[in-house]
Amino acid sequence: MSQTAMGTAGMVMPTGGSRRTSRESATTAVRLKAVRKTYGSVLAAAGIDLDIADGEFFTLLGPSGSGKTTLLRMIAGFERPDSGAIELGGKDVTRTPPYARNVNTVFQDYALFPHMTVRQNVEYGLRVGRVVKAARQQRAAEALEMVQLSGLGDRRPIQLSGGQRQRVALARAIVNHPEVLLLDEPLGALDLKLRQEMQLELKRIQQEVGITFIYVTHDQEEALTMSDRIAVMSAGRIEQIGAPTVVYERPATEFVAGFIGVSNLLERDGRRFTVRPEKVHLLEGGETPAPNMHVEDGRIADVVYLGMVTRYIVELDAGGRLVAVRQNLETAASDVLDAHGRRVRVAWRPAQTYQISPEPSDSSDQLDNAQGGSS
Ligand code: ADP
Ligand code: MG
Repeated sequence: MSQTAMGTAGMVMPTGGSRRTSRESATTAVRLKAVRKTYGSVLAAAGIDLDIADGEFFTLLGPSGSGKTTLLRMIAGFERPDSGAIELGGKDVTRTPPYARNVNTVFQDYALFPHMTVRQNVEYGLRVGRVVKAARQQRAAEALEMVQLSGLGDRRPIQLSGGQRQRVALARAIVNHPEVLLLDEPLGALDLKLRQEMQLELKRIQQEVGITFIYVTHDQEEALTMSDRIAVMSAGRIEQIGAPTVVYERPATEFVAGFIGVSNLLERDGRRFTVRPEKVHLLEGGETPAPNMHVEDGRIADVVYLGMVTRYIVELDAGGRLVAVRQNLETAASDVLDAHGRRVRVAWRPAQTYQISPEPSDSSDQLDNAQGGSS
């Protein structure tokens, strides 16, 4: 997808200059009202209602093609909804062009100006906004310090690593204090270790600057690590909104259970429920389960040794399979592999199961979403 429009939103100056403090955090930074968007026969946003609080780290999590980028682009103003309304800071901006919205975007490809130095890249928006030189330099220096690039102001983007370029893009986006920062898979191009470091750092920066972040990712671990709340998206809809612990431990739908973590979906007595792998006990030989635990017999169908933990896939006699994880506290790799094919008893507390509502069967306004799509 072309994201050529980066420049415009990236250069907006704060209009009101009234950044709210966290004390008034009950106020709404972004509100979507029945926002709907289609591309031909593809339903990219199926009438989405959403309130994001001021200062919140809010994540849109979903597979490729679920409509995350479309939603972000509508908030930025690059796309207009077919119907519905978008408010920023209580003001209707549905028809406001991107440059007049107090919102910045950080894209996955960073979109830095290659011919400018790091400092010039960061200062650019302030220059366009006619901020005087001394203030400009001061604020760019602060932004570079915030992303720990103080020494690299004179380099050009080509002289930086991927992680450093990502930081420049971030500094450029926060330097003029937008009310809302939109981030579309900004860590997607980094390797795993760097990505994990940047996740913690993004969270720190967000807390320091107090800007509302709307963060798009398809990576559940990333979402769980950083977010105050997560909206799990599928096929242009929000399946569930909640704190990381809520969407992980109490998935509302089968989709959410399957997308976040290992789903472990079972059906017993007509009731469908999930139980998370770390809540499933594998009982040793004669071990008696704690009272009020639910116990079942089965066979270890597969063992996956992952270093820190081992994952056991248990085929249950009563039907279905469960994944259980165990930390490798005492166990050696050889014990682990011996477990393959063994009969086991598994146990869990009924309180740690969560009932799953059936998938919505109504497909009345479900357009063709089968082709997946860009990310
Ligand atoms: P995500 O960011 O979650 O991967 P997108 O918002 O990019 O999802 O896309 C949602 C759906 O809308 C996909 O099916 C995608 O192919 C489609 N789509 C997005 N942008 C366009 C466009 N400009 N033209 C046609 N279809 C599009
Ligand atoms: Mg996308």
